[in-house]
Amino acid sequence: MPRTRLFAANWKMHKTPAQASHFVRDFLPLISNHADREIVLFPPAICIPATVEAAKRSQLHVGAQNLCWEKAGAFTGEISAAMLVAAGCTHVIIGHSERRQYFGETDAMVNKKLKAALESRLTPILCVGEALQEREAGDTDDVLRRQCTEAFREISAVSAAKLAIAYEPVWAIGTGKTATPEMAAAAHETIRAEAADVFGNKFSKGLRILYGGSVRPDNAGELMAESEIDGALIGGASLEAKSLAAIVNS
Ligand code: PEP
Repeated sequence: MPRTRLFAANWKMHKTPAQASHFVRDFLPLISNHADREIVLFPPAICIPATVEAAKRSQLHVGAQNLCWEKAGAFTGEISAAMLVAAGCTHVIIGHSERRQYFGETDAMVNKKLKAALESRLTPILCVGEALQEREAGDTDDVLRRQCTEAFREISAVSAAKLAIAYEPVWAIGTGKTATPEMAAAAHETIRAEAADVFGNKFSKGLRILYGGSVRPDNAGELMAESEIDGALIGGASLEAKSLAAIVNS
């Protein structure tokens, strides 16, 4: 079965609720009805209700950029998986490099978040990727394998069924530098091999692996032509309706 393409628009800390609604209104007429593609907007948490409302009855899905692994309790500032589901989210980004880098997210925390998302039937997009020094030192494969093994700890293939992974080389995020389709394909093969070791071949063949890192309208076509690339996680270029539409339509 072919893997359904997944396009994930990560708005990071941009847009107010009103701006999120306007975006959806501007974006919807620009995309053709792509039954073979899943398109998900990841607004800041405060914009989730407005985005869900604006996207109602359309082909768009809405996700969160983060979640807490706890179910409820004294965890000031945090949002649980069940709260996200109740607000209309279907997807969640986990372990984005900015969360690892600026907010101290460890592989162990990523593992707990992944379990919480899967238990709540959210589709998690697990982010993995090497830093520039790691690539230059020839450690890319080891880093990707370690991030995956640690994230997958104590998770079964059955419970991981909805998992998607985004390969995001840290040196390519927000820098204008993009991995070549060949570099991305090689990294995706490593990730797929790790998933096969942990969850089995059947699982790994169906696993969607997205590429993220300075995807733009002018490079999306050649990246998406690579058979190992099952979609994109888009940051900067997802903030404008026109440029996100050009990528999704590519
Ligand atoms: C991201 O947010 O994960 C990302 C890849 O950002 P950008 O597209 O801006 O590099």
